[in-house]
Amino acid sequence: MLESQNWIKTENVSDADLIILNTCAVRAKATDKVYSALGRIRRAKKESALLGIVGCVARESGSDAFRRIPELNFVLGPQSYHKLPEIIKNPETKLLNIDLGGLEKFDELPQMTKSPTVAYIPIQEGCNHCCTYCIVPYTRGRELSRPFDDIIQDTINAAKTGAIEICFLGQNVNGYKYTDETGNLYKLSDLIRETAKLPEIHRIRFTSSYPTEMTDDLIEMFGIEPKLLPFLNMPIQSGSPRILKMMNRPDNLDNYKNIVKKLKSVRPDIQISSDFIVGFPDETDEDFEQTLNIAKKIKYINSYSFKYSPRPHTAAAMMSNQISEQIKTVRLQRLDSQLNENQREFNTSCIGQEMMCLCEGLDKTGRHLVFRTPYMQQCIVEKPNTKIPPLQKIKITDANKASLRGELIK
Ligand code: SAH
Repeated sequence: MLESQNWIKTENVSDADLIILNTCAVRAKATDKVYSALGRIRRAKKESALLGIVGCVARESGSDAFRRIPELNFVLGPQSYHKLPEIIKNPETKLLNIDLGGLEKFDELPQMTKSPTVAYIPIQEGCNHCCTYCIVPYTRGRELSRPFDDIIQDTINAAKTGAIEICFLGQNVNGYKYTDETGNLYKLSDLIRETAKLPEIHRIRFTSSYPTEMTDDLIEMFGIEPKLLPFLNMPIQSGSPRILKMMNRPDNLDNYKNIVKKLKSVRPDIQISSDFIVGFPDETDEDFEQTLNIAKKIKYINSYSFKYSPRPHTAAAMMSNQISEQIKTVRLQRLDSQLNENQREFNTSCIGQEMMCLCEGLDKTGRHLVFRTPYMQQCIVEKPNTKIPPLQKIKITDANKASLRGELIK
């Protein structure tokens, strides 16, 4: 949108005429980082430069953001990015728009003329699940799914302008549901089937998923569609049914394990990753041991783990028996060492295998290419002398906890 108005990018804050922070509010630390960055930027920027925040911290803070940082010119919530040109037209005003209107922004944004190799395509926004720790229903609102045809147009455009991989995005991505004027219902499985027909697109994935939205049509896609990567982030958050109930998450672990079993039966090489929260209010040592056990049992790879962070507008922030920072730290370390162990074991098991990997570019030294395997592991390869296409078959030669090493197969 800005490029079409002839704005160009600068790497230097002190050169910029317009500074936009795109923000995340999911944990307090993310919000704190925004304000410390704003503190640095307001001292470094040109006096005339416009400064603003967009996204979830804008929605979380509202007009309070102007009080905390008087230099701010605009505060735009996740569904009002497209109002940005207004501030350029009227730099004298303070622009505040944190309304949850709908998904009009997608109609306002111009089509990309060049796509990165991995094109991230939003398909839905918001979430109806109301996990008690989560600020997303407040910052992003209720679930809204984009029209099927619009998304397909975006994937075609991405394919034509350079994308090789499509990653469908949504806060509850597998909850995607769209009914057109004639009453046809479209789901994520339909989007995958249609996108897989594009010859330019070789890899498809999606994030983030809610466990009980893994319906059979979607599970079956993993067996039918080879372009769908054999890797799924399906957060469990905790291994304790008692804590899951307090989180307002699906608390039937047998159901969860059954979904994993079905996925493995249609796609034996599939790997699962999870997000975990430790130190949720009232979490006991016993609850936490159950989390450790499930991490071990399901052999999650590539997972994310966080200390519980109380967030405004959430039910869990009001709960009694909040856990001390010290206990959270110890539990996080123990969980991380289990998750690292899983990762190391899986990475080691990849040695000797051949995998189709997608190039992300050069590493810091400039002497190696960095690839992503179908499991989103990083794989480092010596840079060849000739230019090569981004999708390559690579033989994995070595592995550690964090990454793999490999060789191009001639
Ligand atoms: N709808 C997505 C949200 C992604 S946020 C989902 O539930 O998968 C990414 C992760 O952040 C969540 O999975 C959860 O593990 C973590 N998270 C969310 N709120 C949190 C909080 N208040 N404290 C700590 N971690 C949190």
